[in-house]
Amino acid sequence: MEYRRTAVIKLDTPEGADTHLRETVEQFKYCANTASEWCWHGDDGYHVTSKAKADDALYDQLREDTELTANLVQKGIHQAVEAIKSCVERLKNDQDTSRPTFSADTAIYDKRSATFHRDRVSLSTPDGRIECDYILPDDADLPPTKYVANEDYEFRRATLHRRDGDWYLHASMLKEDDDTDTTTEHRTVLGVDLGVNQLAVASTGQFWSADEFNHWKREYENRRGDLQQCGTRAAHEAIAGVERKEDGRFEMFLHRVANEIVAEAAEHDCSHIVFEDLTDIRESVPQTSWHHLWAFRRLYEYVAYKAREQGVEAVQVDPRNTSKRCSTCGFTHDDNRNGEDFECQDCGYQNHADYNASKNIGLQYLRRRQNADDGGAPVDVRLNRGTLTVSGAYNLPATSEA
Ligand SMILES: [Zn+2]
Repeated sequence: MEYRRTAVIKLDTPEGADTHLRETVEQFKYCANTASEWCWHGDDGYHVTSKAKADDALYDQLREDTELTANLVQKGIHQAVEAIKSCVERLKNDQDTSRPTFSADTAIYDKRSATFHRDRVSLSTPDGRIECDYILPDDADLPPTKYVANEDYEFRRATLHRRDGDWYLHASMLKEDDDTDTTTEHRTVLGVDLGVNQLAVASTGQFWSADEFNHWKREYENRRGDLQQCGTRAAHEAIAGVERKEDGRFEMFLHRVANEIVAEAAEHDCSHIVFEDLTDIRESVPQTSWHHLWAFRRLYEYVAYKAREQGVEAVQVDPRNTSKRCSTCGFTHDDNRNGEDFECQDCGYQNHADYNASKNIGLQYLRRRQNADDGGAPVDVRLNRGTLTVSGAYNLPATSEA
């Protein structure tokens, strides 16, 4: 039996290290984006999904263009190939996709480009190795300390992240033991509800507002309307320009939200991120425009491939009743929901309607797992404090979860 966990470790960077780490992630992004561009266009009109082929074509050039070590250059190329692979999967299923771009400040390390200790890490940069101490919470029973301090867990690889000026290591850790009973693995999931006012709401109580997105959308629509009135060829070209700019801006925004959702899952030690199946969302949420639907699909796609990097899996579940059902007692009724307010007509539970839905989405996955062939490993939904089990009972601190 293998247990995979992601430990999110804040780093204490020595004086002057910031510049070199930033240089590392910039050059890493350059490798990934260059590789994505090449693999997307491929040769003979086929997308390239072979790491060996991409290495052959790109490695020498990228070693020359950057000051990264061989291993980091390769990791950058491979990150792009993995993303292209998931695009090709989507194309096979007739789903929308577009060339992956890498904008987050990250770099992927393994044991050749980093040395992982229990209290510090040494990272390869263009300026040689840099050693950073871990900043670990004292509580040894909680992640990340629980895993970092436990010799049974081995460091496999890690992604270096820069967030709000600080540096973090998202370390993939593995514990192997002889226990062959696969049903005992405990899973914790993050439920995520997508919507037109709150773009995403996680079962941990994190909200991502759609205000910015909706504001730009209106702005662009007005500009396009004005241009359409002109009807000239120049105006048509200007409209195309507006659309290109619009898509780029929205994609950047969605990448940012996707990174934050994945970080939320990693920080709360979740093995799965659960979304609703988007196939019939326009029926269940009638105010969903095609534009929102595009954003939801893109966001799911981004989360899915960014999550995989962290050893976290994104899944979709049947969305039926997730907005009308009470996440506390299970009572399901149309009257439970009134716009953004949820009030259970049976038990009186009150909360933001999208937050209630996000918990139901997580619970829906739990129920599906219970009927799984392997007998269903125990699964919990991660809340802002503690977790929720399939019976609706809280684990750990039951407070603040009213
Ligand atoms: Zn209720």
